[in-house]
Amino acid sequence: MDFSIPESTRDLLGRIREFVKAEVFPIEVMARDTPFRELLPVFEEKRQKVRNMGLWTPQIPKEYGGVGLTFLDHGMVSEELARSPYGHFCFNCQAPDAGNMEILIEYGSDEQKEKWLKPLLAGKIRSCFSMTEPDCPGSNPVWMNTTAVREGDEYVINGHKWFTSSADGAAFAVVMATTNPDAPPHGRASQILVPTDTPGFELVRNISCMGHEGSDWDTHCEVKYENCRVPVENRLGEEGAGFAIAQSRLGPGRIHHCMRWIGIAERSLDLMCQRAASRELAPGVPLATKQTIQNWIAESRAAINAARLMVLHAGWKIDQVGSREARVEISAIKFSVADVMLTVIDKAVQAHGAMGISDDTILAFFYRNERASRIYDGPDEVHKGVIARQMLKQYGVDTRK
Ligand SMILES: Cc1cc2nc3c(=O)[nH]c(=O)nc-3n(C[C@H](O)[C@H](O)[C@H](O)COP(=O)(O)OP(=O)(O)OC[C@H]3O[C@@H](n4cnc5c(N)ncnc54)[C@H](O)[C@@H]3O)c2cc1C
Repeated sequence: MDFSIPESTRDLLGRIREFVKAEVFPIEVMARDTPFRELLPVFEEKRQKVRNMGLWTPQIPKEYGGVGLTFLDHGMVSEELARSPYGHFCFNCQAPDAGNMEILIEYGSDEQKEKWLKPLLAGKIRSCFSMTEPDCPGSNPVWMNTTAVREGDEYVINGHKWFTSSADGAAFAVVMATTNPDAPPHGRASQILVPTDTPGFELVRNISCMGHEGSDWDTHCEVKYENCRVPVENRLGEEGAGFAIAQSRLGPGRIHHCMRWIGIAERSLDLMCQRAASRELAPGVPLATKQTIQNWIAESRAAINAARLMVLHAGWKIDQVGSREARVEISAIKFSVADVMLTVIDKAVQAHGAMGISDDTILAFFYRNERASRIYDGPDEVHKGVIARQMLKQYGVDTRK
């Protein structure tokens, strides 16, 4: 396996790093006391700069107007963008829109592409993905209460969802709903596009998470669907193909999540080193002279390097044999990279003393916001179960008993 980065990619990464530092870091300061929605004009100005640089939607194939980066190159770009919580948004490759763009490209009809994909790619609208329900465990996705019942040429959707990220201000939701209740568990649900101005779509609230309610893209929302009627043409792919589509989105998506977490860990380590070098414990005696902080820096460096190689290897394996055959590697990075990131953030907070708890650096934001990494896209325990099950199979044990 060749881990060297081609010259052209290195140039691209350098340009993106500079852009994020010069143009996106200052937004973090504004975002401390200005709601996301009020910052939209600032974001639009940055997004225009990204378009002018020819870097808009880096992950999208050229024929759809993107940069057409390979899967792994976009992973490395994702690391650079993640040094700020707003990097991906400025480049129009933020979750959940990026995943919705991918599934619309792969499964969308010509009409759906014209109506939803085009404006999404252009950054004119946003979208959300509505699968998790308050009354059912998200870690068992085949158990859900939301239904889409066919009546003539329409689906009538009823259900209660939450943690539909970025639903506030989204133009449409991709909703997972049971369409075929009598089919085997993985063939029961479909993904259906529901415009948010459909009668019966109710945005109940932006859920306050770790003390932050947010607005617009920066939200996790509770949503009710009450007799929402949409044409059957709004279904994505075949009826009952909802899980297959969700699976195709999740495997590669986890590579990008993990690369994003590595970017966050790198920024935190950078801040830790800056603090160690600049904080004097006594005149002329910087924190950096203490072996404890040297250990933190060295351990963080080693852990991030190892995590990055694991992620690149998992991405390479997906390219070689597909997501299903790479499921052990994907599950391994999902929980272990989250752990590396959270450990590095925690050490960086500690190195900053009281300042680490304040919002004067981005660390407190990372500390609050990234705790969720161990829960979404499969909690740690589920991924550990996947690995153990595969491994123990080789020893003749069926762990499902
Ligand atoms: C910030 C954030 C953003 C999100 N965005 C979206 C979104 O945009 N769209 C969407 O549909 N959903 C979203 N989610 C929801 C997410 O997918 C679910 O939270 C996740 O699937 C877990 O489901 P749950 O919360 O119902 O937890 P549960 O399934 O109730 O699990 C609770 C806990 O039980 C334990 N557990 C579960 N299963 C097992 C097991 N098999 N073995 C051992 N222990 C187990 C784990 O510790 C787990 O954390 C988001 C969540 C967060 C936190």
